[in-house]
Amino acid sequence: MMINCGAHGDRVSAVICGHLLPSGPAPAGFIENSSDPDDLQAWCHACEEKFQQEDGLTDGFKAFNRMAIVCVTCYDEAKARHAIATNG
Ligand SMILES: [Zn+2]
Ligand SMILES: [Zn+2]
Repeated sequence: MMINCGAHGDRVSAVICGHLLPSGPAPAGFIENSSDPDDLQAWCHACEEKFQQEDGLTDGFKAFNRMAIVCVTCYDEAKARHAIATNG
């Protein structure tokens, strides 16, 4: 699936949670759920905790997650902004 986000032209689409959009505070954490370059998916640390609490993709989780479709370049930018280094 392709998407034109406006800033980067036609790119492969990726899925992130609403908290990882540029309007949200950073860093929020960046947990990748798929490493398939044609189907990248990630959400923030709070979504990971919510997912564990809800024990699956429930309606409550989806409302919290506020899934957003972005291009892979936006995905990379979100990753750079939100990933929390674990090695010091
Ligand atoms: Zn989130
Ligand atoms: Zn983009």
